[in-house]
Amino acid sequence: MYDNAENLREEEPPDLAEEPPPSWPGVTSAEWNDWRWQMRHCLRTADQLQRFIRLTDEERVALANPVHLRVQLTPYVVSLIDPKDENCPIRRQLIPTVAECVACEETSPDSLAEDEQSPVPHLVHRYPDRALLLATTLCASYCRYCTRSRLVGARAGVRDWQPALDYIAAHPEIRDVLISGGDPLTLADSVLERLLSGLRAIPHVEVIRIGTRVPFFLPQRITRDLVAMLRRYHPLWMNIHFNHPKELAPAVERALARLADAGIPLGSQSVLLAGVNDCPNIIKALGQKLVRNRVRPYYLYQCDLVVGAAHFRTPVAKGIEIMEALRGHTSGFAIPLYVIDAPGGGGKVPLLPNYLVSTSDTHVVVRNFEGMLSAYAQPRDYRPHDSSRCPYCGQEKARGVAAMLSGQLRTIEPEGWRQAHAHRGEPAELTEEVYG
Ligand SMILES: *Cc1c(COP(=O)(O)O)cnc(C)c1O
Repeated sequence: MYDNAENLREEEPPDLAEEPPPSWPGVTSAEWNDWRWQMRHCLRTADQLQRFIRLTDEERVALANPVHLRVQLTPYVVSLIDPKDENCPIRRQLIPTVAECVACEETSPDSLAEDEQSPVPHLVHRYPDRALLLATTLCASYCRYCTRSRLVGARAGVRDWQPALDYIAAHPEIRDVLISGGDPLTLADSVLERLLSGLRAIPHVEVIRIGTRVPFFLPQRITRDLVAMLRRYHPLWMNIHFNHPKELAPAVERALARLADAGIPLGSQSVLLAGVNDCPNIIKALGQKLVRNRVRPYYLYQCDLVVGAAHFRTPVAKGIEIMEALRGHTSGFAIPLYVIDAPGGGGKVPLLPNYLVSTSDTHVVVRNFEGMLSAYAQPRDYRPHDSSRCPYCGQEKARGVAAMLSGQLRTIEPEGWRQAHAHRGEPAELTEEVYG
């Protein structure tokens, strides 16, 4: 006899399909749940958006002007916008306002100096053991504060990434490749698979990561076929860009379940944005909702000094205040690391409230999230780690401040420092070479 209960237990997670919203009369369920239909019906103009949302004057003016970054929203993401709420956090991230067109002298098109740190086209190599591959210029929708607004939105989506693959193959120190863009999940399965298999053919590439916002903009894209393909390239990690708990709508949650069930470790990267998520309670609710969906909050970024994003910036103090409200107050794995991506190409720098109150030879005084002070007695008989007997030590040369801690480097000097101080007549041997 047919055992229905048994059959149910064996079933895959529920389908992602959902009914088209009433605001799209005549659209079939098959169309609405087809990611290609969604991409073909993206909204780009004031006239198109006006059918669903009553636009403000600030939005209308911005949409009437050519802006520096393409406007594009998937029908699905428009359906998540509260049409009556001018401050809807999803709307604020995706529909431009005149504030975006106001010049700010501190901003620049490439504030992270990625172009300077690009040894071959479409590859950024900033950190020693990992590289960022910009696989496409296209996204499903465009965030108004985009760090790469100088590159994304261009029609020529897919790039020739052979030079990037050749560079990675020639650099055995690269063990982790982050595929971003644009959004790699806007590529067809076969095109993305070509890139993944190209990377997997390089023996020293241990980990592949995909950076994407498609699970939010276009959860229909997370098809069974896509996931079946992705899992062939494990270890494959995915970092998804989420800024607000409202973004984790039911179809998005089902897409996340499908990815997590395929054994893809999921992380989330958020940007701290004025008027969107600059609130400890929103970030806490976001982190908690993410972990319920098996997504680990990874970074909370201070908003970059990029053209068009100035009005989204918060004081750094807001980020510190948010971190203070998280640590101790909620699960450690629901807490992201707050970072500034240092202007000029310095990379990510973590920022935290101070928890170390003071220290002596014998004790360290720390404070907890409630303000309680505790003294931690330090060991008196610590035998330092013996690097000469450690198989992990000495495999590679220490760099930067880490090298200073092991005595391999005495100073790190700003360029020109030595010349500027030479007139004092001190012997030059007192300083080391400029660290390179
Ligand atoms: C963020 C980033 C990475 C990855 O950094 P992790 O801290 O390892 O996540 C790599 N390359 C570039 C250029 C980046 O901006």
